[in-house]
Amino acid sequence: MEKQDKVMLTGVRPSGNITLGNYLGAIKNFVTRQNLYKSYIFVADLHAITSPRNPDELREAVNDCMAMYLACGVNPEQTTIFRQSEVLEHGVLGFIMTFQTHMGELSRMTQFKLKSQNMGKNGIDTGLFVYPPLMAADILLYNTDMVPVGLDQQQHVELTRDLAQRFNKRYGNTFNEPDVYIAPVGNKILNLQNPAEKMNKSDGQNLGTIFLMDDLKLVRKKIMSAVTDCEAVVRFDEENKPGISNLISILSAITGEKIPDIEKRFAGRGYGDFKREVADVVCDLLDKIQTDYKRFKKPEVLNKILSDGATKARVVASETLERAKLALGLK
Ligand code: AMP
Repeated sequence: MEKQDKVMLTGVRPSGNITLGNYLGAIKNFVTRQNLYKSYIFVADLHAITSPRNPDELREAVNDCMAMYLACGVNPEQTTIFRQSEVLEHGVLGFIMTFQTHMGELSRMTQFKLKSQNMGKNGIDTGLFVYPPLMAADILLYNTDMVPVGLDQQQHVELTRDLAQRFNKRYGNTFNEPDVYIAPVGNKILNLQNPAEKMNKSDGQNLGTIFLMDDLKLVRKKIMSAVTDCEAVVRFDEENKPGISNLISILSAITGEKIPDIEKRFAGRGYGDFKREVADVVCDLLDKIQTDYKRFKKPEVLNKILSDGATKARVVASETLERAKLALGLK
């Protein structure tokens, strides 16, 4: 296959600051492959309003997310960067894809089950229930071949594939069927204080989540106080040693050092030494990202990139939507 024949796409919700989990699970894997694909990355602002949001905060979060993409290495020369709501085709195809989806499929989505767990029926926003078909539209509009995401989004990309297949079977070949890319290491970064849970943007009040814009002293404190176990052996064992295994994954995902090599290097050394190294590596990474973030967080830089990106994205998205409408008999 010729370079750039294939399409890669991913997105992040601008709903709070970007975490180390977002970076290692999705953004980093995108950045390292962006020159091998025809690449699209978007700010998923329609997904951010599945629950009510303060409009000023949302506006600010979109700019933050954009500047963060650039600071993490997304290159506008190689990648089309756009804001989801600027390309109206997302809304229309999202609506169409909702009608291809069974209630049972959406009820089985792990993210829906987890997030709606403690809500009464009237407290659950329909957005939380129906966002997977919108995500399917996000992906299908660009004829995407590969979607790098964290483990929590795997099921949604698989649903996208099922919906594309269903549509193609019912109405004729219209959509490309995408594959998911889950990084072997770093696909589910855990909360440092509660390693039974994923690291989430919404858990920012405690020391469990590392945000890419955190003060570096605080980052060091978060890592040094991460919950571990009393065995004092640096060994990867997700079931019995989730805290230490999480830190090993973070180190390995950032440096590329293999997990068995990390275990060997720290044999006979305590958790203190190990945590210090993890803190050094994470702080070095964040220091660079934060310096670049300040360079990019300028309205004139961001607006131009977003406007160019939306123009390019609309061309492809409108072709796909026209194809889908034709197949459905809407033209
Ligand atoms: P979200 O913040 O839900 O918009 O997620 C954006 C991307 O980051 C998706 O691909 C998620 O799968 C990924 N992601 C979110 N949290 C984590 C985590 N703790 N570990 C790995 N990937 C994550």
